[in-house]
Amino acid sequence: DPLAVRFNFLNTYARLPKRFYARVNPTLVAIPSLVKINVELARYLGLDPDALKSTQGVEILAGNRVAEGSEPLAMAYAGHQFGHFVPQLGDGRANLLGEVIAVNGVRYDVQLKGSGRTPFSRGGDGRAVLGPVLREYIVSEAMAALGVPSTRALAAVTTGERVYRETILPGAVLTRVAASHLRVGTFQYFAAKGDTEGTRQLADYAIARHYPGASQAKQPYRALLDGVIARQSNLVAQWMLLGFIHGVMNTDNTSISGETIDYGPCAFMEAYDPATVFSSIDQQGRYAYANQPRAMLWNLTRLAEALLPVMAEEVGDDEAALESAKEALSAFDPQYEAARSAGLRRKLGLLTERQGDAALVEDLLERMASNHADFTLTFRRLCDAAADPLADREVSKLFDNPFAYDSWAAGWRRRLEEESIALQSRTEMMRMASPAFIPRNHLVEEALSAATEGQDFQPFEDIVNVVSRPYKDRSELLRYATPASPDEYVSHTFC
Ligand code: AMP
Ligand code: MG
Ligand code: MG
Repeated sequence: DPLAVRFNFLNTYARLPKRFYARVNPTLVAIPSLVKINVELARYLGLDPDALKSTQGVEILAGNRVAEGSEPLAMAYAGHQFGHFVPQLGDGRANLLGEVIAVNGVRYDVQLKGSGRTPFSRGGDGRAVLGPVLREYIVSEAMAALGVPSTRALAAVTTGERVYRETILPGAVLTRVAASHLRVGTFQYFAAKGDTEGTRQLADYAIARHYPGASQAKQPYRALLDGVIARQSNLVAQWMLLGFIHGVMNTDNTSISGETIDYGPCAFMEAYDPATVFSSIDQQGRYAYANQPRAMLWNLTRLAEALLPVMAEEVGDDEAALESAKEALSAFDPQYEAARSAGLRRKLGLLTERQGDAALVEDLLERMASNHADFTLTFRRLCDAAADPLADREVSKLFDNPFAYDSWAAGWRRRLEEESIALQSRTEMMRMASPAFIPRNHLVEEALSAATEGQDFQPFEDIVNVVSRPYKDRSELLRYATPASPDEYVSHTFC
C-alpha cells in the first residue's frame, strides 16, 4: 500500500517502569470519519498527510487500528483539581501512541484524546465530544501560530457514536501532539505514594527530554525545577499579554515542558476585565484572567514539594532542600514580571525602558477596564496610532468614553518621542506583539454549533485558517477581527 502511514514510533515512556502507566489500546469506534488533518504539522512531523487521510490513516486516528511500532498506553498521574488533591487521575480517556521525531530532530508525543476508557477512568465514558475537540483544535492551533508554546492538533475525527452529556452529542477523537505529556501531577503521583525512586526516574526522564542542560548542573533536580519555573513564568506572561484564559489550571493540566496543555473551557477575553472567567465549572473564579500568575505559582509550588525528596538527596538534607526549593520559587515573580513588562513595552512600541513606563501601561489598562475596551483590538489599533495620530480615532472609539483614550494617548506620544527607532520598524515590532486575530469566542461557538448541529464543518475550517495567520491584517476578514455584539457574546464555555 503506497499510502501506508509510517509513524516510526518510538516508545521511551513505555520503557519506564510498569507503574508509570497502563498498557491499553484505544477502544474501537463505530464509524471513523475524517474531519481534518493538519497538513503543515504532519509534514513537520515527517508524516505523509495523504497517508493520514487514507482509510488506514483515519482508522489509526480513530483508534480502530494500532499503527505499526505503536505501544499504546495511558499515563498515570495525580493532581490538584481546583485546590483539592486527587492521588490518582491518569489518562482516563486518552492513549499515548508513541513518540515521533520531527524533521528538525525534536521529539514529540502523539496522543489520542477521547479514545475510550482506561484503567484510570474513574467516572465518565472515556470519550470526547465533537464540540470540545474542535475547540481544542482551533485554540491550540491559534496559540501555536501566536508563538505561544502549546500542544498542537494533528487531526480530528468523528466516531459515528453518540456521547451522553447533558444532551446526546456526536463523539470525536483529537490527535494531540505535545513536547511531552509530563505534568506537575505526574510528579505528584509518585510523591504522594512516597515513591522516591519513581520520582527520581521521572525527573531523570524529564531532564533528558526537556532540560538536558540540567544534567550538567551541580544539582540537576534543582535545575529541573528552575527550568520549569522559567518556562512557566514566561508562558503565563504570554497568556496575559494575549488575553488568554486557560480555564482549568489544575496541576494535572500544567506541563513540565512549559507548553499550554489541555484546552477545555478556555477562551480569549474581549472587553478588558481582569476578573473575566468563561469556564462553566469555575464558579468561584479561581482561574479568572488576573488569577492565572498566582495559580501557576501555586502549581509550581506543588511541583517543588513533589521534588523535595530527590532534592534532599542532592543537597544532603531536608532543610537545605526546602531552602533550595523556596529560592527556586522566589524567581517566579521577577521572571513573570520581566516577561510581562517586556511584552507590554513591545505592545506600546517602546524599545527602551524608562521610569514611568509601568505607570503608563497600567493607566492604559485601567482605562480599558473602566471603558470596556476590546483587549485585542485596542492594542492592534495602537500599532497604527503609533505611526499616525490620525488613527487615534480608531482606538478611541473602542472606549465607552473616547476621551479616556485621548487623554492617555497624549502622554504616550510624548513618551514615544523619546524613542529613536524608525517608524516602520516600530510598527512592525508592535504588530508582532499584538495580533489582529484571536479565536473570538462567539465565532468559536458558531463553528462548533455548525459542526455539531448541521454537520457543517466550513465555519471550523474558516476559523482555523484565520487564526493560523494572526499577525497579518486582512481587511476581508473584518468579521473575525471584530468583538461580539452584546447579543452575540458567549460568556460561558463548556468542555
Ligand atoms: P481534564 O478535566 O480533561 O483535565 O480531565 C481530568 C481527568 O478526568 C483526566 O484523568 C481525564 O482523563 C479524566 N476524564 C475526563 N473526561 C473523561 C471521560 N469522559 N471519561 C473518562 N475519564 C475522563
Ligand atoms: Mg487534564
Ligand atoms: Mg480536559
